[in-house]
Amino acid sequence: MRFVSTRGTCPAVGASEALVAGLAPDGGLYVPECLPALPAAALDPGMAWPERARLVLEPFFAGDGLEPFLHGICAEAFDFPVPLVPLPAGAAGKDDGPPVRVLELFHGPTAAFKDFGARFLARCLERLERAGRPDRPLTVLVATSGDTGGAVAAAFHRRPGLELRVLFPENGVSPRQRVQLTCWDGNVRSYAVRGGFDDCQRLAKAAFRDPALAARFRLGSANSINLGRILPQAAYFAHAAALFSAEGGARPALVVPSGNLGNAVAACWARAMGAPLGRIVMAVNANRTVPDFLETGEYRPRPGIPTLANAMDVGDPSNMERLRNLYPDLSALREAVGAYSVDDASIRETIAGAWSGSGYLFCPHGAAAERVRRLHCADGPAIVVATAHPAKFETVVEPLVGMTIPLPPSLEALAGAPTNYTVIDPDLGQLFAD
Ligand SMILES: *Cc1c(COP(=O)(O)O)cnc(C)c1O
Repeated sequence: MRFVSTRGTCPAVGASEALVAGLAPDGGLYVPECLPALPAAALDPGMAWPERARLVLEPFFAGDGLEPFLHGICAEAFDFPVPLVPLPAGAAGKDDGPPVRVLELFHGPTAAFKDFGARFLARCLERLERAGRPDRPLTVLVATSGDTGGAVAAAFHRRPGLELRVLFPENGVSPRQRVQLTCWDGNVRSYAVRGGFDDCQRLAKAAFRDPALAARFRLGSANSINLGRILPQAAYFAHAAALFSAEGGARPALVVPSGNLGNAVAACWARAMGAPLGRIVMAVNANRTVPDFLETGEYRPRPGIPTLANAMDVGDPSNMERLRNLYPDLSALREAVGAYSVDDASIRETIAGAWSGSGYLFCPHGAAAERVRRLHCADGPAIVVATAHPAKFETVVEPLVGMTIPLPPSLEALAGAPTNYTVIDPDLGQLFAD
C-alpha cells in the first residue's frame, strides 16, 4: 500500500515513511492511494477488539517493514476496552424508538480517544527506530491545547529511540491538564509557550520547515496530521459498526464530536472500506467553519473561539484537507457527511438532560454529539461517539449533575505527581536551546 500527499506534488511513500515524516514534504497530508476493502472477518461481531484492529490495519501495512510487527503493536496499544453501550430513552422518551448506542472511546490511560492513535503511533515509531538504527533519535513535536499532549506524552514516555517535546499554551490548560502534560521525565520534555494554542502550532510548523534544525534533528510530528494517528481510529469505527450490525436493522448514523476532523476522516475511511455505517454527522461547537463550508461551499478559516467543549475549539481544521481529498466534489461531500453547530447553553442542557433522563454522563464533547443526534438524526438508529471521560471536564459537568465524578484510576495516579517544564516564548531558538 502506498500513501500520497493531499497536495499531490511529492512521491508516494509506504506507511513507515509516512509515519516518520508526519507532514508530506509538499506541506500536504498523507492519505492512502486507495482504500482497501475490509476483510469479512473484520466485520464479524464476535471478533475481539485488538484482533479486529489488526485486520482493519493490515492492508495499509502490506509490504511495509512494520507488517510483521502489527499483531504485537495492536495487542500492546489496544489493551483497554471499547464498549458500545445502550443510551436508554429515559422517562420522557418512548422506549420503542430506534436504537441509540454510545461508543465510549475514553477507557485508555488518559481517558480520551487520543490514546488510540498516540499509543499506536509510539509503538510503530519505536519499532522503526529499533530496526533502522539511525545515528540520532527521532525528535517528535506535539502542539496541544490540552488532551492531545497528555495522551501523546503518556504513550511516548520511556519508549526507546524516541524523544518528545510537548508544546502547550502557558495559560490555556486546566490545572489537571497541566499535570498530565508536565509530570514526565527522561525522553519527554514539556514547554509552556507564552501565547495561545495557535502560537504552539505555528512554532511546531516552523520547526519542520527550518533547514538548520533539519540538519541537527530528525523531526517528526504526533499531531493528527500524522497518518499513524488516524488509521487506528478507522479501526474502532469498523468495530462499532460490526457490533451494531449484530443487532440487525438499518445502518446507524454516526455522530462525531469534531475539531480537527481526525475522527470524522477516520469514520469516512472506515465506511468507504465497507463498515456498515449510515450518514456521518460532525457535531461542532460555536466554531462553525465546517457547517458554514457545507452550507455555502466557501471555506473560510478563522481563529478558534473558546467553548465548553474546548478540545474542539478549532477554526481551521487540519484534516479538512483529507476530507476534501476523499470527496473533492461539494455535492458528494454534502451527501456523505453532515455538520451542525451546538452552543454552550445546549451543551450544558444536554449534559443535565441525559443524566436526569437516561442516567448517562456525557463530557461536553459527547454532549454536543448527543444534541446533534436528537436534533438531526432522531428518526433512525444512531451511534453517538463519546470522546472523553466526563471526569476530565469536572468543572463543567459536576455542577450540572450535582455530584462528584470519580477520576479513572490511571488519571488519579498522576494527581500530585511532581511536574517539570520550561517556559518559553514562541521562538525556535528557545525550544531547541539544549
Ligand atoms: C481532540 C478531541 C476532539 C476533536 O477530535 P478531532 O478528531 O480533532 O475532530 C473531540 N473530543 C475530545 C474529547 C478531544 O480530545
